[in-house]
Amino acid sequence: MGCQEKKRFKSKKMVETFIDQFNKDPLVKETLVSYWCQRHDGWHVSRESNKRPLKWYEILEQLKKKIP
Ligand SMILES: [Zn+2]
Repeated sequence: MGCQEKKRFKSKKMVETFIDQFNKDPLVKETLVSYWCQRHDGWHVSRESNKRPLKWYEILEQLKKKIP
């Protein structure tokens, strides 16, 4: 799905730190979001608007996030 060239993060924590830093920039017009890539066994970042429909395992991830 064309994510070969994308930045890859090994852990959720790493990708969230990156996104936090990125989104803090006042020049950022479009925030980044993270998504899990099963093929690369890691996390990628994407522009919010490029986000494709969620796969079942991504929905699962989001649900997990909501549980404290
Ligand atoms: Zn990937």
